[in-house]
Amino acid sequence: MFSISLRADSISKIYGAGLLSKGRCIFQNVSFEIRPGETFGLTGPSGEGKSTLGRVIAGVEKPTYGTVYYEGSSLSEMKKTKYMAFRRKVQIMFQDPTGAFNPRKKIGSSVFDVLKLLKIPIIDHASKTKEMLITIGLSEEVLSRYPSQLSGGQLQRLAIGRILLLEPEYIILDEPTSALDVSVQAQVLHMLKNVQTEKNIGYILISHDQAVIRFMSDTCGLLESGQLRIIE
Ligand code: ADP
Ligand code: MG
Repeated sequence: MFSISLRADSISKIYGAGLLSKGRCIFQNVSFEIRPGETFGLTGPSGEGKSTLGRVIAGVEKPTYGTVYYEGSSLSEMKKTKYMAFRRKVQIMFQDPTGAFNPRKKIGSSVFDVLKLLKIPIIDHASKTKEMLITIGLSEEVLSRYPSQLSGGQLQRLAIGRILLLEPEYIILDEPTSALDVSVQAQVLHMLKNVQTEKNIGYILISHDQAVIRFMSDTCGLLESGQLRIIE
């Protein structure tokens, strides 16, 4: 059956298993599904495996058991070209925006690097960049700055902006506002919602903050003691 979704089917992750150790089970038999335009909120105490689950869903790490399906195809059985497309369509954004950009490069140069990598013709770089800056709500002035000359909120907007250039279908947002001042958090969350509406992107939003999860999520799961409990 063809299905436009990203789906975890009974996945488990065990770290450190070997000849002499059974390893440590981080989570077991986790299943959930998201579609474009929806947000799945993933919450739970620190150290319970939220980031690990995010990496497995994004294909950065393999599940020990179970299967991740992207548009109905199992990641482990995908042909190389389809897998490369998957890796581009499913992106992760991390908590700390300061590490997201090369400190020695001006923002504009980091952005153009992505466009070059995507083989976008140079003649289109300016318009693509402009469009992206409008979406994330920043002025062109930021392009001539170094990362250290920008605020955490501005950098986190740019981190999303750079991901948007890849035209993702899903983004795993791993504690996207946890490193930001409370006043800036709300602005960035609103921006993320607007981006989602405009581009119909599916989010897996990881946060230990219940207010953030409630504000953003369509459905939500609590990861605790190795189990995912779907809350709504
Ligand atoms: P959370 O994001 O909920 O805080 P994490 O997914 O970061 O939790 O970590 C869950 C547990 O898995 C932690 O105890 C962590 O030490 C462990 N862990 C994470 N990555 C690895 C790894 N590559 N090897 C071994 N253990 C790991
Ligand atoms: Mg984490």
